[in-house]
Amino acid sequence: MFTATGMGLPDWSVNVTSWLSPRKREAGVAMLNSCFPSPRAEIGGTGGAAQEPGPRLHTCTRTTIENMATGTQTEFRNEAYLDFSQPANRQAMENSLAKVRSEFGRAYDLRIGGDRFSTGDLLTSVNPSDSHEVVGVHHKATPELANRAVESAQAYFATWSRTPAAERIRLVRETARIVRERKLEFDAWLVYEAGKTWIEAEADVCEAIDFCEYYANEMERLAPPQPVSQLPGERDELIYIPLGVGVVIPPWNFPLAILVGMTVAALVAGNTVVIKPSSETPTIGAKFAEALLEAGFPEGAFTLLVGSGAAVGDILVEHPQTRFISFTGSRDVGLRINELAARHRPGQIWIKRVVAEMGGKDAIVVDDDADLDKAVDGVFASAFGYQGQKCSACSRAIVHARVYDRFVEKLAAKARNIKVGKADDPANYMGPVISESARRTILKHIETGRREGRLVVGDASVPESGFFVAPAIVADVDSKAAIFQEEIFGPVLAVTKARDFEHALELANDSVYGLTGAVFSNSPDHLREARERFHVGNLYFNRKCTGAMVGAHPFGGFNMSGTDSKAGGPDYLLLFLQAKSVASKVQ
Ligand code: NAD
Repeated sequence: MFTATGMGLPDWSVNVTSWLSPRKREAGVAMLNSCFPSPRAEIGGTGGAAQEPGPRLHTCTRTTIENMATGTQTEFRNEAYLDFSQPANRQAMENSLAKVRSEFGRAYDLRIGGDRFSTGDLLTSVNPSDSHEVVGVHHKATPELANRAVESAQAYFATWSRTPAAERIRLVRETARIVRERKLEFDAWLVYEAGKTWIEAEADVCEAIDFCEYYANEMERLAPPQPVSQLPGERDELIYIPLGVGVVIPPWNFPLAILVGMTVAALVAGNTVVIKPSSETPTIGAKFAEALLEAGFPEGAFTLLVGSGAAVGDILVEHPQTRFISFTGSRDVGLRINELAARHRPGQIWIKRVVAEMGGKDAIVVDDDADLDKAVDGVFASAFGYQGQKCSACSRAIVHARVYDRFVEKLAAKARNIKVGKADDPANYMGPVISESARRTILKHIETGRREGRLVVGDASVPESGFFVAPAIVADVDSKAAIFQEEIFGPVLAVTKARDFEHALELANDSVYGLTGAVFSNSPDHLREARERFHVGNLYFNRKCTGAMVGAHPFGGFNMSGTDSKAGGPDYLLLFLQAKSVASKVQ
């Protein structure tokens, strides 16, 4: 008869695996052996002495353990978007906007390892649709608190890293459930703090839920020992263990999805984290931190540290106890972080791992045999959705000479009809850009564009209450022009004529970035060519170049677009883990 004792496991492991068939039980116990490093570890409980966890197992923990034992994975499905054309959903969203609005101006403390701090040095976050409205007021961290946050995360790492993987997975799934339940509330915060239109906000929140579910499933796959070849007379294993303290630095443009993705990936893998949200969107970060606590994450596992990148960013990155940095943002900040992290500090006993996902200058190629209306729609949505403030946004349309004039005409006609206004009004296709300084920078680029090409759209008037910019299309742009080369991060599209498809591909690759790209063509030969030679991390055919879906389109770019970490894909969690080989002599 099978017993767990021989495997060095506590007796309760027999209970934990008792529902498994005898054939699967041995695998289950082997898996438990690796996932429960200490007999004191407890599933679904509050911590403490050895217990009989079998009957107390949370249902989803039980499924997780069974999946891990049998090598099956929970099926992943993308979260469905709410359909705002349905009157009930519209009404629910209006109610949610009103509720969130009633919370405007609230002050948020700092919390580090369960202690609260009010520094009095305040960051005021405003509504970009109406900059007089204060969305939230946040106490900013001092350098001392930044150090404390890393040290507190390091102190809790020993506990968190030994918390069973099944429990960490459960907490991440619980977080997904809470965000799903409060979806419209998160939507509303995104509308008000990030200037997202309803549907863009909904896409951001759905992606955040997807990241939680996807990485929870992935951890089911990676928590048990991984298959390695077996030498005679040995039991050979490969197990993944967490790294240590991670610093998570997200951008403001997907203030929920990217912050959540990087955070839960780190946590589910067993790392503790210090999250430094963007100074443009701290309230959304604070709301997510509330969801983590509500889900049951211990305070020690994560800290949300509000503060400017310049003031506390370097401290977090340079701290000798920081083990890894998970960054998404601009090229210049990413390169700086990479450089700072590479320098060894006194007391540091590892090489820091840096995952840096950075900017883009994404191109869509339109071939002469493309369905022109579909190409216009694809370029339009990619260039002007969320005001062009996506790393994946199309900022270069490269169009075959034979269809160039017709393409520009059709696209310009469509862009002239764009309604720009407050993000909370669903009648507007484009909301504001994120800040006054972003607005000024974008307008400067448009002025440059006037000199570098032919401004065919761009002079429309926009409301003055917020940070609004009219969509701009600059045609006849040379590939050496600044607006062809530099990331603008606003609703500005450069259109360039290509002699033929070969030339179009050359132009598309004429960039230091390599994030997303698309080709509209009906030629199988041309698509094959593009598949081989269009050097981007995310390539799309006959569709827009934005809107990557977790699971289907693992996301990350080449060259100056970053380390190609492929968020939302099967390689991603490995960036938060390190592999340990264990060989035991058995004879
Ligand atoms: P940013 O580089 O200005 O800021 C990103 C984050 O870094 C923010 O949280 C900021 O506070 C922080 N930061 C700034 N200085 C820092 C420092 N010295 N040390 C540590 N942290 C510091 O970028 P942004 O304006 O927030 O976001 C827009 C950029 O992000 C664009 O370039 C866009 O292409 C890129 N982006 C890339 C991806 C991707 O997956 N590749 C996704 C979204 C956005």
